[in-house]
Amino acid sequence: MGNWKLNGSKTMVAELIKALKVPATECPTVAVAICPPVLFLGQAQTLLADSAIILGAQDASLNTEGAYTGENSARMYSEFDVQYVLVGHSERRTLHQEDDALVAEKFAVIQQAGLTPVLCIGETNEQFEAKETQAVVERQLQAVIDKCGITALNKAVIAYEPVWAIGTGKTATPEIAQQVHADIRAFLANSDAEIANKVQILYGGSVKGASAAGLFAMPDIDGALVGGAALNADEFAAIIQAGA
Ligand code: PGA
Repeated sequence: MGNWKLNGSKTMVAELIKALKVPATECPTVAVAICPPVLFLGQAQTLLADSAIILGAQDASLNTEGAYTGENSARMYSEFDVQYVLVGHSERRTLHQEDDALVAEKFAVIQQAGLTPVLCIGETNEQFEAKETQAVVERQLQAVIDKCGITALNKAVIAYEPVWAIGTGKTATPEIAQQVHADIRAFLANSDAEIANKVQILYGGSVKGASAAGLFAMPDIDGALVGGAALNADEFAAIIQAGA
């Protein structure tokens, strides 16, 4: 899943989508999704009409419609064939002060609109150094479980993204990421073993073509949420191929 963040232009959307259709077609067992900025969803929808690449959005309003200047709702996304919505990305948590309670509310709103939330969780560098990773991700998950119930994770994706690895070029080693993913499943298994086993958990944080295969070889890593490398057709193609 590519998270384009605040990047792109009409030209870039057209070129990147054209280039990505090839590896996506060649790797039919890999689910490929892209999350362009909202402004480009209409263009992307048209360009992807004959493709299996799935559209996602990067955030959603808490509200469906009304006097909320500047916001975009999950219900509107569904008109653009959007299936996934990122929620709780660390950039939203820090730059927009989105706390665990708000993230849980957004998670619920996204599901109510019939879309699949991609719940982003992960610790900061300081928390990593203090060995608080497990406590942080459990707290972030628990907020959603408290609000929506464990069964809500039947139709959701989790993205473990250590904040210290996002955009820094410092990928977590496959072993570090695997350990956290396994710990996440163990935590969820306290509530529901089947859901813990089945839920897709993506790793995110400086994933590149060269590092993807090592991560995907790990038993509890089901895919990647990719930022910078998702803007480069060759890099993203290599990540798709590593998943095949
Ligand atoms: P990155 O971003 O791949 O550029 O580190 C990942 C993300 O923020 O989802």
